[in-house]
Amino acid sequence: MDFRLSPEEKLILETVRTFVDAELMPLERDLQEAELAGRGGEFPDEETLRRLQGKARELGLWALQVPEEYGGLGLGQQLMALITMEVHRCLVPFQFGGGADNILFAGTEEQKREYLLPTIAGERRSCFALTEPTAGSDATNIRLQAVPDGDDFVLTGEKIFITGGSEADYAIVFAVTDRERGSRGGITCFLVDRSMGFTSRPIQTMGAWSPARLAFDGVRVPRRNVLGEMGKGFELAMRWIVNGRVVIPARAVGRAQRLLEMGVDYARQRVAFGHPIGDYQAIQWMLADSEVEIEAARWLVMHAAWLQDEGIDNHHEASIAKLHGAQMVNRVADRVLQIHGGMGYTKELPIERVLRDVRVFRIYEGTDEIQKRTIAKDLLRGTAGLGRWE
Ligand SMILES: Cc1cc2nc3c(=O)[nH]c(=O)nc-3n(C[C@H](O)[C@H](O)[C@H](O)COP(=O)(O)OP(=O)(O)OC[C@H]3O[C@@H](n4cnc5c(N)ncnc54)[C@H](O)[C@@H]3O)c2cc1C
Repeated sequence: MDFRLSPEEKLILETVRTFVDAELMPLERDLQEAELAGRGGEFPDEETLRRLQGKARELGLWALQVPEEYGGLGLGQQLMALITMEVHRCLVPFQFGGGADNILFAGTEEQKREYLLPTIAGERRSCFALTEPTAGSDATNIRLQAVPDGDDFVLTGEKIFITGGSEADYAIVFAVTDRERGSRGGITCFLVDRSMGFTSRPIQTMGAWSPARLAFDGVRVPRRNVLGEMGKGFELAMRWIVNGRVVIPARAVGRAQRLLEMGVDYARQRVAFGHPIGDYQAIQWMLADSEVEIEAARWLVMHAAWLQDEGIDNHHEASIAKLHGAQMVNRVADRVLQIHGGMGYTKELPIERVLRDVRVFRIYEGTDEIQKRTIAKDLLRGTAGLGRWE
């Protein structure tokens, strides 16, 4: 395994670092003020986000993982993980423009023209709609139905907790086309424009996320909008999800690293009983435990990312990274809040907000329990784990 970066990759990472320091970091104060005014969840607004993405684009940071033949940078998962860690060092929510869901590349030439290319250009926005009110972890049991009718399918049902569902102008929707076969050939993926008739309603959450409910009330979708093969939708959904299981713990590492820096600074300067609190072992252990857990998460992410770049099935390692990363950042946020005492609990510092935001890392794209289920099943089947190295 070789994690060394090429000179070109080093330059890209350096450019990201410069962008984060120059453009994102200065906005943390505005975010904190918005938070105090009760508008933290709306920061940065659409216009600011577009402006920031435009600035990043001027530096060549656009469509990072899109293959070069489609005008992107074609970055691998390892460099993307390092970039994600770097961006999440800053507490201002941001993502580079021009990203396209990995499964859109499974489209026909016509679908690529109509959906993929405008998404890469930043002109269209998608959302990924799998979860339903009665099926989350057991996504094989979704009910939203797609019934053939002439050259169309008619979609009826509901999706819930869809990230970007309020803003997207089209949805990547998973629907049942053969109830008998279920996830083994009975789920199909559709590209559904908002103009075809689905509606959305935002859901308030404890964090900055505001996913949406989507309602499909007899929405007509032309047959040519089937993404991939009929009945093969579940495989596409899993391909999308495994990617997220590397990205989320990379975000967790960035956030946790930044919080730990805050914890170290505070431990140095806060005096209690005549000494900086960093002199006390109780505080030192919180710092040390956090450092060890962050480093462990970093290498779990890099291992899962390396496997992906090598084209080796990484679902087991991605589950391990996701589970540890998500739990780790929650523990670190809680410890750093504790180190800050009463100040940690206030909205004058960003720690309580980060703690609320990262709670969802343990829930979406597979809960902690579902990651453990995957890991244990692999062990029991003997298909992965127990120190396997490729
Ligand atoms: C902010 C946010 C954004 C999201 N974005 C998206 C999105 O863009 N697209 C999308 O499709 N979905 C999205 N989701 C949905 C998310 O993936 C689901 O919430 C998640 O998979 C859990 O499903 P559930 O909420 O139905 O919980 P359930 O599946 O009902 O689980 C409830 C509890 O039971 C546990 N449990 C379930 N099965 C087992 C088992 N076999 N063994 C042990 N414990 C078990 C779970 O771990 C959990 O603790 C999002 C969710 C949130 C909160």
